[in-house]
Amino acid sequence: MTTQPQTAQAQRYEGPVPLPQQESDFYWEKCKAHELWLRYCNQCSNAYFYPRDICPLCFSRNTAWVKASGKGELYTFAIVHQIPRPNYRGPLPFIIAMVKLAEGPVMPTAIVGVEPDPKNLNVGMPVEVVFEDITEAISLPKFKLA
Ligand SMILES: [Zn+2]
Repeated sequence: MTTQPQTAQAQRYEGPVPLPQQESDFYWEKCKAHELWLRYCNQCSNAYFYPRDICPLCFSRNTAWVKASGKGELYTFAIVHQIPRPNYRGPLPFIIAMVKLAEGPVMPTAIVGVEPDPKNLNVGMPVEVVFEDITEAISLPKFKLA
């Protein structure tokens, strides 16, 4: 998977910072290493997101971590033109999206590296993960057009 950080922006991150919890510590450690990992259910043979110990499809605890390809397709998106909360100082407009990963799960994310204009985006277009280092410990998986 391609793991080019978004450091060229050199823009201080102003958004909320995820708080890793026991079930997701591994996920965030791998994101920091610019790798996307998913939970996989050995009982029903499905990968799922967000990471948690119990499969949300069959409730089995027979689950494991698997490394994702980082590839997927744009499932849906919205272009945000208004500040999402008071004191927001991030870029506007920006693209929020759901990406259907090659492994199956659909995850909430953002699309980066493309002008936020509907003419540049189509549902089903291939995307690839990139990581934005927002703190010393947290890197956010986002997606660029592949
Ligand atoms: Zn399952």
